[in-house]
Amino acid sequence: MAMNDKMNGKRKMTYHRRKLCRFCADSSIIIDYKDVRMLRLYTTERGKIVPRRISGNCAKHQRILTVAINRARNIALLPFTTSTIR
Ligand SMILES: [Zn+2]
Repeated sequence: MAMNDKMNGKRKMTYHRRKLCRFCADSSIIIDYKDVRMLRLYTTERGKIVPRRISGNCAKHQRILTVAINRARNIALLPFTTSTIR
């Protein structure tokens, strides 16, 4: 029990910053599948979508964002994954 509490405390210390959804905070930002520069902020280096617990987006906007990223992928604005020859 005591050990568990310690671990939880540590976890809180490390990762709690800016838990606000960017799109909720600023309603002037429009999620657009053509806006690759903005969408790239929410994809990893390998082209994966950044999970909500890291990006801090709310469920609603994360969903909209996912659709936008998938549209962008479909017309080759964003990669599905970065292909590397292994
Ligand atoms: Zn939001």
